[in-house]
Amino acid sequence: MPRTYLQTTQYEQLSNIRRWQIHAGSNHFCFNGHCITGRNLSGAIIVICLISLTSVVWLVFELPILMKEFNNSSLWILIVGCLLILYTYIYFFRSMCTDPGIIQRPSSIERTILRRKLNLDKIKPNDLNNLMYDIKINNILIKCKYCVTCQMIRPPRSSHCAICSNCISILDHHCPFLSTCVGMRNYRFFILFLIFLLQTQLFLFATSLIKILIYTNDRLFSQSIIPSIPSYFILIITACSALYTCNLLGYQCMISSRGLTTREDDKGIYMNENPFNTNSWLINLTRKLCTSLPPSAYGAHRLVNQAEYRLIKDNV
Ligand SMILES: [Zn+2]
Ligand SMILES: [Zn+2]
Repeated sequence: MPRTYLQTTQYEQLSNIRRWQIHAGSNHFCFNGHCITGRNLSGAIIVICLISLTSVVWLVFELPILMKEFNNSSLWILIVGCLLILYTYIYFFRSMCTDPGIIQRPSSIERTILRRKLNLDKIKPNDLNNLMYDIKINNILIKCKYCVTCQMIRPPRSSHCAICSNCISILDHHCPFLSTCVGMRNYRFFILFLIFLLQTQLFLFATSLIKILIYTNDRLFSQSIIPSIPSYFILIITACSALYTCNLLGYQCMISSRGLTTREDDKGIYMNENPFNTNSWLINLTRKLCTSLPPSAYGAHRLVNQAEYRLIKDNV
């Protein structure tokens, strides 16, 4: 049987196969393909452990003493602290598990049409990496590269992530702390995660500092040092991490307001003319963070068709 054709009985067996089960990239999937993460989860596990450890120390050692000292506003400290920690977790997992904008690889038929159209058989394999096509957007010429791995011409602003082995729409960067790409579909969750993480860090820092001041106020330093160890631990962790988060959030806001992604800014793309800059920092930010979220073009939980199955089998 030729590799490119499936017999009817085999095709019928595909009726239960979903796209994520034959995914060509290196992602991990769970919940029937609704949750997509990157390959190496070690960075995300370290971040979860750090957030959890700091939160547990604060809830167990700091919160009861603060509630006792601030009898009138104790409920507010509890509510604000718990909500900030909860939303930090929510947006961490939303940015980590949302499809960042994976572009579906073309089918065998589409690849054959493209190969003929672009005369790819006459181009040396080494030269395929440098194959570029010009597209005009807002009267500005931009270059779209051919992706050798995905065998397609990348849409404007998209790029191939070597770690996840996918082309991603409006790829910002591959985030080692989230263990996934940050792209068109999860960028806003990434920003919301940074905002809530920074607020949580500042809140835990401020309340731990207040607790140390209360302890040192009516006790000798030698008497207050041991009960204040959890507070010093939170102060050191939150101060160091808040500086990094603040720097990262400030940088992301700066490049987003200029209509750029991290990758474009890093590589100096659109240094002279940027077709995606509206010349208004507010519109640039609104476009990136507040417009409706496009549906997942990849659709990992969708049932595969014969052409998609052939594409995977041909690539094996
Ligand atoms: Zn690619
Ligand atoms: Zn990636």
